[in-house]
Amino acid sequence: MAAMIDPYGRAITYLRVSVTDRCDFRCVYCMSENMTFLPKAEILSLEELDRLCSAFVRQGVRKLRMTGGEPLVRRNIMSLFRGLSRHLKSGALDELTLTTNGSQLARYAEELAGLGVKRVNVSLDTLDPHKFAAITRWGRFDQVMGGLDAAKAAGLGVKVNTVALRGVNDDEIERLATWCGEEGFDLTFIEVMPMGDIGGETRLDQYMPLSMVRARLAEHWTLEESEHRTGGPARYVDVRETGQRIGFITPMTHNFCESCNRVRLTCTGTLYMCLGQEDAADLRAPLRMNDDDALVDAAIGDAIARKPKGHDFVIDRRRRRPSMSRHMSVTGG
Ligand code: SAM
Ligand code: SF4
Repeated sequence: MAAMIDPYGRAITYLRVSVTDRCDFRCVYCMSENMTFLPKAEILSLEELDRLCSAFVRQGVRKLRMTGGEPLVRRNIMSLFRGLSRHLKSGALDELTLTTNGSQLARYAEELAGLGVKRVNVSLDTLDPHKFAAITRWGRFDQVMGGLDAAKAAGLGVKVNTVALRGVNDDEIERLATWCGEEGFDLTFIEVMPMGDIGGETRLDQYMPLSMVRARLAEHWTLEESEHRTGGPARYVDVRETGQRIGFITPMTHNFCESCNRVRLTCTGTLYMCLGQEDAADLRAPLRMNDDDALVDAAIGDAIARKPKGHDFVIDRRRRRPSMSRHMSVTGG
């Protein structure tokens, strides 16, 4: 089987695809309320996204994650999942999955499961409907709960991603962990990352180190370091009393780059080799040059050869500006 190996010897087996930069929510840490989105003409068609994803699969990618923006608000998105599921059937792909805010899951969970999607990541920062409205600005809590029910009913595994927000959900850490345990959901906490202008607030106001989250959990349970690894940035603990596993993604305080196995594609066909660096490769031009994939394959090879060693995120205390100008919704986290 083909394999993409970067200059630091890391095999690139995981592609994350932001299929749209649009979203039906406006989470305060992710977007400003009046976001400007990309002109539709710049966005790859679903057929073009399929072609690019398939090129990566051909070159050794074993896991595809659709994200955004909100992947499930892109019109006709299921046709992309339907198309890509052929790589699961052929055995070329181990996993096809998505990260979603859950708002449309009630509609799509069953079909996703039928196509071979086994697990979904659902972002949820609070169990309080009022806080939920304040964090997401436009989101409806009941709709997301309905989406989670549908995912469960369809047999999808659920991992809840919770961004730790100082003064917002720091009093809910234990409750979220208990609830996820009861529902049978995995749980991972994420630190706020300095990506994109978000309007009035700054990340410094929102930032809460996960060491504080751990400390809160440790007030109630015994946490044991886990050897569990998924090849991703999360580190895990096992809760001795409940057997539950809880993940922590700490980009600001822990460097996880040495085991990085992933690259990120935007909905305009730009490939970012690192979430925390500006360098990128344009795959849209070679894609649109002709129907033959040789140019695309070559462009992917060139890009992987430039994958940087790691990121240098920093929440700048003097300038109080994000260290990365692009929003998380461009690359999908
Ligand atoms: N809309 C989908 C969702 O919310 O799950 C997928 C895209 S969203 C950009 C992916 C993940 O990034 C979510 O879990 C969200 O909480 C997280 N995220 C967005 N902006 C972030 C930031 N500045 N720092 C840390 N996580 C962020
Ligand atoms: Fe939308 Fe996800 Fe960003 Fe929230 S985190 S605004 S749901 S893309």
